[in-house]
Amino acid sequence: MVLPYDPADGDTFWKAIKSIKGYPKNNPDRLIRHMLFESDALFKLPRLLGRLGASPAQPLLVVTDSTPMRRGRERLKPLVLVVLEKAGWNPEPLVLEPYTGEHVRTDMEQIGTVEARLQEKAVVLSLGSGTVTDIVKQACYNFEKKTGHRPTYAAYPTANSMGAYTSNVATVYLRGVKRSLPSRLPDALVYDLETLRDAPYTMTVAGTGDMLACFISFPDWLIAHRLGFDPSYSEFQQVLMGPIEKVFVDHADQIREGTLEGVALQARFMAAAGVGVSLLNASTPLSGYEHIISHLIDQQAEFSNRPPSSHGTQVVLATLLVSIAYRCFLDNFKPSEVDLEHCYPSADTMKRRIDSAFAAMDPSGEAAAECWDEYRIKLDAWHANRRAFERFFNDWPEIRSRIEQYLRPPRWIARVLTNLGSPLSFDELEPPVTEDQVRFAFLNAPLIRRRVTLGDLLIFLDWNREALWDHVWHESKAVVEAARCQRDQRRN
Ligand SMILES: [Zn+2]
Repeated sequence: MVLPYDPADGDTFWKAIKSIKGYPKNNPDRLIRHMLFESDALFKLPRLLGRLGASPAQPLLVVTDSTPMRRGRERLKPLVLVVLEKAGWNPEPLVLEPYTGEHVRTDMEQIGTVEARLQEKAVVLSLGSGTVTDIVKQACYNFEKKTGHRPTYAAYPTANSMGAYTSNVATVYLRGVKRSLPSRLPDALVYDLETLRDAPYTMTVAGTGDMLACFISFPDWLIAHRLGFDPSYSEFQQVLMGPIEKVFVDHADQIREGTLEGVALQARFMAAAGVGVSLLNASTPLSGYEHIISHLIDQQAEFSNRPPSSHGTQVVLATLLVSIAYRCFLDNFKPSEVDLEHCYPSADTMKRRIDSAFAAMDPSGEAAAECWDEYRIKLDAWHANRRAFERFFNDWPEIRSRIEQYLRPPRWIARVLTNLGSPLSFDELEPPVTEDQVRFAFLNAPLIRRRVTLGDLLIFLDWNREALWDHVWHESKAVVEAARCQRDQRRN
């Protein structure tokens, strides 16, 4: 399949995206110097480092974690080191280990571990999926901020699990809360198709989920913009990504079967999506209410020492829930029935709400304090943007019809997930997430970040969110049941 804007096309891609309406100014001509999406790209890795101007005389740090990975019959990580050694490099492996619990998470300790190993003229290769890549890119970013030396950085994604390989935003734990921080991009990315194909399918399908979140993040971004919060809104990201259905519906079989064509298509699509986020300098276009719900589910796991579930899959299950909430909102929101005076809760009220919401999760009060630091900024802006809210009311018919264009029916989302072989409910995640945990996240997610989404509007409108949750949860069960029945009928 031909993508409307294909990062595998090199120069042609970078030139073409400049002509998209809304292309953000003040960006370099080419944000990432090289992106390779090829069969056996692994063996071109040394040559690619050379094209970045690096030479085997320089120290090369290869950062990975301890997860065993395979590529065909071979063990991937030793193979990468051998390929580099044969080309004259002397790669120094750095294997990240968890500080607490059983999994490596993106936090300041891990970032500091990598940063401490960097030096002037360092060349760095991240060999892993989302967490390892985010840790390395943030370490390189911090090192450059402190020393003025910019490490040459190449990323080798080991799974098609998320879109952030090409994003200059990293998701990092601060005081137990997940935050999006400004970061940097790799100078080059090596998408070796055999490596991506041989990753566990749960990771591939999570990558599709991370992208399908756009059916919520796009309308959320529009809402934030029309409420006066985000002047950067444009349709640039939507145009850049093109028709997402064509990728994940028309090519679902190829993706599920792990053909090299399917693997390459997904990698190229996600890379383009990440480039958009980097050019816009914000994760907002691809991360709305659904992502914040997922972050709060992760935070609950973190505080009870459980590993997080697969990011993208958790996100797309939240997407399904929020699509039901949106449907309900669009069907029932009547601006004429709203008393504007009641839409402005005081700082005291909201601070108390945050303190009590997070007290059980983190009795130390740190998480609540971190949330309040961010939330108060949003609340202040909400009070200050009152005129925008009045305009929002007046423009509602037009805003509503644009939201309708972005949304997809919950049944359609469930069918797409079924075709891709994705888990359909939170109890199918590994580890499973309980209804209580999802409910807590659905109700409290807006309190953890300054980003504005449908979730905030529901709070400010004093919507009956408990009743909404009951509806959303039960409706999601019905939708999923119907999708499962259809799948079983097709199989028989
Ligand atoms: Zn994501």
